[in-house]
Amino acid sequence: MPELPEVETIKRQLDVVLKGLRIERVKVINPKCFQGDQKQIEGQKVKKVSRRAKITFIELENGLYLAIHLKLTGQLIFRKKEEKEQKFCDQKEGPFAVCELPNKFTRVIIRFDKGNLFYNDLRMFGWIKIVKSLEEVGGEKLGPEAIDEKEFSFDYLKKVLAKTSRPVKIIIMDQQKIAGIGNIYANEALFKAGILPSRSSSSLKGLEIKKLRESIISVLKEAIEKKGTSDKDEAFRQITGEKGSFQNCLMVYGKAGEDCPGCKGKIKRISLGGRGTFFCEECQN
Ligand SMILES: [Zn+2]
Repeated sequence: MPELPEVETIKRQLDVVLKGLRIERVKVINPKCFQGDQKQIEGQKVKKVSRRAKITFIELENGLYLAIHLKLTGQLIFRKKEEKEQKFCDQKEGPFAVCELPNKFTRVIIRFDKGNLFYNDLRMFGWIKIVKSLEEVGGEKLGPEAIDEKEFSFDYLKKVLAKTSRPVKIIIMDQQKIAGIGNIYANEALFKAGILPSRSSSSLKGLEIKKLRESIISVLKEAIEKKGTSDKDEAFRQITGEKGSFQNCLMVYGKAGEDCPGCKGKIKRISLGGRGTFFCEECQN
């Protein structure tokens, strides 16, 4: 599922291509994926594109937003009108390749004056909603952004962890406490910080908390630079249709049984809170 780095990648790319473009028509192919009256946004120009946690917001001149959550398999692919459809196509890439658009997973098409934005979603858990504010899609309940170094401060993290003895991995993935960290980056940040995912949150000491915070921020920033992670299913795509590349930089996520990059041990996998959890018993305490 796209996490903060993937959605940030989409947001940055959409902001560049959509700013100033006018929505001509919204074609809803699957009503399950779209909420709102498209007449309210047709004819509107895009002011900017922003992000909160895993939700992308396309802000329009009339004050309305298109809020988009990609959930498990959502994709936002933009094609300029003059662009050749086959630019980033590799048939070997499977169901998430975007060789021709629209394809059988295209659920909504937003036609702009200078191009088309295709919302594809194989499993259809994602959505697009017309909203007046962030709060309408649960924004008020979210914790600080994990890459906001000011709000996601050492003191804040220390306070959050001190309150509970639940496993630290579960706590850093709780969106109401810290926004944007999902399973991939929780595993990676804990490995980098040398902390076992199952450790009781309140048992973490000052230096460990400092290391954990720094690891979360640096892992997320590096993943943004690498344009996100296209996990094994390769569902995640940049707006061009290309994959991200942080999957080539993963240290432990998805690597059970492989050699640990930090020692001679093997990476283990357990289930924690129902999610695959990867770690090295030697390198993490
Ligand atoms: Zn190790």
